[in-house]
Amino acid sequence: MNVMVVGAGPTGLTAAVELARRGVDVRIVDKRTEGSGFSRAVGILPKSLELLEASGASARLLDEGVRIDSAHIFQGKQEMLTVHLRPHGEDRDFILALAQDRTESILRDCLLKNGVAVEWARELTDVRQVSDCVEAVFADGATETCDYLVGADGIHSRVREAVGVDYRGIDLPETWSIADVDANGWPYDRSFVAFRLGHGKMAVVVPLEATRYRVVSNTENALAALPIKMNVTKIHREGVFKISVRQVDRYNVGAVYLAGDAAHCHSPVGGRGMNLGIDDAAEFARRFVDGSLDGYSASRHARGRHVIKASEGVRKFVMSQSGVSAILFRVLTAAAGRLPALQRGFRNAVLYD
Ligand SMILES: Cc1cc2nc3c(=O)[nH]c(=O)nc-3n(C[C@H](O)[C@H](O)[C@H](O)COP(=O)(O)OP(=O)(O)OC[C@H]3O[C@@H](n4cnc5c(N)ncnc54)[C@H](O)[C@@H]3O)c2cc1C
Repeated sequence: MNVMVVGAGPTGLTAAVELARRGVDVRIVDKRTEGSGFSRAVGILPKSLELLEASGASARLLDEGVRIDSAHIFQGKQEMLTVHLRPHGEDRDFILALAQDRTESILRDCLLKNGVAVEWARELTDVRQVSDCVEAVFADGATETCDYLVGADGIHSRVREAVGVDYRGIDLPETWSIADVDANGWPYDRSFVAFRLGHGKMAVVVPLEATRYRVVSNTENALAALPIKMNVTKIHREGVFKISVRQVDRYNVGAVYLAGDAAHCHSPVGGRGMNLGIDDAAEFARRFVDGSLDGYSASRHARGRHVIKASEGVRKFVMSQSGVSAILFRVLTAAAGRLPALQRGFRNAVLYD
């Protein structure tokens, strides 16, 4: 039985690595001509590191990434709460910050070690299920067959469209902005910093490397939104983006399976998207090998729904303009500063939920 994975983002690469290392005959195709130099996701959660351990990817990710071991929550310029993610130096209790293009590059290396290379410049245009196989049709006119096909081709998934699965949800109206910058003297070089700015606005700063930071905000200019001055020495990129909150209601049609952004998308609040895709892909590979693919769709749908609900809950709370939520924010952060149990709950939600 062979598998064709469509899309060499973090989800597709994880699926291919996890299948290849277990001896499955797997191919992976992508419409790009080479790996993306554009980084969206930054935070790798402990569960993803655990899933990628057997392939050897985690050791390399850990070598390169920055361990984020605390979170600082601000209301405007005023720090309300510091949460230590590893108060006792625990082994895995941190978020690993690494630019997504580096994560993908490490996964491609692991795949090559298992004898599989990404087939670039292969744009899939259609998928057909015939009696005993799946036909993948490419932009160059080629039709190739496989036993199973995994659509890990991102938010605008052609695989999803081809098999007729709805992507239900909403497109949020507001514009978000992002900036990757070098900066001197930023005091939170191993910390996640979140600013609640009032009027439903927020900004987040995450370290990417020793003196490089990612700034994201639900305003049109992430750097201008920061209430604390950042001494920026170089802007690597700046841009704006929109967010959708969507999920498919089934993760497979016959032998065609969906994973990652092809199956779900939500706001970057909580840094869950890539991690959820890695989790989908690892579960697909495990179930493929142990013959339990029947349970994939229900299991991944439930997990996806839970993550979207949690991420949307936090986004709505932080962005709420109501006076009640402003008071609740102050009360909760003040209480969490004093109550170890609340801090533990917050830590577990950030790292493991
Ligand atoms: C600003 C921002 C910040 C984020 N931060 C985080 C974070 O900190 N943590 C986190 O977990 N997530 C984060 N995310 C979400 C994360 O980036 C995505 O969830 C993740 O990239 C999804 O991976 P994927 O492999 O499913 O899809 P993608 O990364 O989109 O990869 C899809 C691949 O499929 C290929 N492809 C598409 N169509 C075809 C076709 N027809 N034929 C062949 N190939 C095709 C594409 O070229 C691409 O390589 C963030 C997102 C944004 C926008």
